[in-house]
Amino acid sequence: MAAAQPNLAHGAQGTPAAGAALHFRRVPATLVCRACGHSYSPRQALPCPACGSEDVRVTAGEEFYLEAIDISGAAEPAAAAPAYETS
Ligand SMILES: [Zn+2]
Repeated sequence: MAAAQPNLAHGAQGTPAAGAALHFRRVPATLVCRACGHSYSPRQALPCPACGSEDVRVTAGEEFYLEAIDISGAAEPAAAAPAYETS
């Protein structure tokens, strides 16, 4: 029985992500107290160090930013500029 071999060679030779390097940037978080407006780093205690209120909100740094993806052996260099999203 001649098995029909699907032409999977190209897709099966390792995953595209095998040589990829992800560059993440960690954004320092900032909390702002809604009660008194004091902004501080969450490395401190969550309640506002100035007034003790727990009604605070995160203004930055909730997530990592993905700066770039380098794929070794990629035919074309990454031409796209890194996207900076500031919400
Ligand atoms: Zn406060």
